[in-house]
Amino acid sequence: MKFDLTKILRPHILNLVPYSSARDEYTGKEGIFLDANENPYQSVNGQHWNRYPDPYQWAIKQKLAPIKGVRPTQIFLGNGSDEPIDLLVRATCTPREDNMLLMPPTYGMYQVSADINDVPVIKVPLTADFQIDTPKVLVAITPKTKIVWICSPNNPSGNLVQREAILEILNHFQGLVVVDEAYIDFASEPSFTQELDNYPNLIVLQTFSKAWGLASLRLGMCFASEEIIKVLNKIKPPYNLSGATQQLLLEALDYVETKNQLVNDILAEREHLRTNLAALPLVKRIYPTDSNFLLVEFDDASAVMQYLIDQKIIVRDRSKVILCDGCLRITVGTAEENKTLLDTLKAFAIMA
Ligand code: PMP
Repeated sequence: MKFDLTKILRPHILNLVPYSSARDEYTGKEGIFLDANENPYQSVNGQHWNRYPDPYQWAIKQKLAPIKGVRPTQIFLGNGSDEPIDLLVRATCTPREDNMLLMPPTYGMYQVSADINDVPVIKVPLTADFQIDTPKVLVAITPKTKIVWICSPNNPSGNLVQREAILEILNHFQGLVVVDEAYIDFASEPSFTQELDNYPNLIVLQTFSKAWGLASLRLGMCFASEEIIKVLNKIKPPYNLSGATQQLLLEALDYVETKNQLVNDILAEREHLRTNLAALPLVKRIYPTDSNFLLVEFDDASAVMQYLIDQKIIVRDRSKVILCDGCLRITVGTAEENKTLLDTLKAFAIMA
């Protein structure tokens, strides 16, 4: 069966007339711009903030495409990757009618976006080692399933999901398969972006919030076929990335080497943290990770969490989440921060 995007999109999205501006027709930089009711004067330091930014961020996409090994037309940039997550739900799922499939424990925004849009969710939990239960997923999919969400490396468990399982779903499911790779720069395997030309139903999400250290800028990447990217462009708010954000990102893209060096530092620190946590008697288990965080099982997670908060150390309590009983999720910090965490856990162990 051939993938047909027109069967996946909500009918009214297919026929939607998007917002347009005069600069969709005139893309030159020079000219007298009297089309967008802007203020013709620059009010702050001679900067061009008085003008609307490029709605499609072409300068960034030209620079980002070779870094990611994709074509500029295969890129959508959003206000965090949470923006494309929500746009994908809205583009494909008719409320109370269509559904999407999640594999808990996983990133929370897929469920939240479903709830905001009143879209039912089918849940097929991961296996005990946080891998896809492929036979169960394939059986659970219905004709109304529009999106299967896969997070790899998975949040909150940290591990990569087996490549073969993702390929099997891509091969057997005719809806959209979203592979959320927010943590891929910390992983030991390559991105699924290299499969984009083989699978028209594949969507890969990445973010500048983690390895790139730009969480405050709110910048998410979505890679997919040109056809899918066109749909996202059609339904996004016209100027979803500010001019300031675009300017900062364009500069940041010159720092790929710095980003890679920081990733290496974090990976070294991750192993140091893992070894030292494993030596603590109150730690029961540390799950394998391909991310910048560790899922750690404690004898008494709630007591540890409370003690850490009292010492102004904030980690994420995942102890009530399916398959994560007794677990805290701990982000790898600086060497100094990790040392303080370890010292604090040792102090707790003495007290307890
Ligand atoms: N996907 C996953 C798996 C995440 O963990 C997060 C953030 N914690 C996001 C997406 C959202 O990232 P962004 O900052 O780009 O919205």
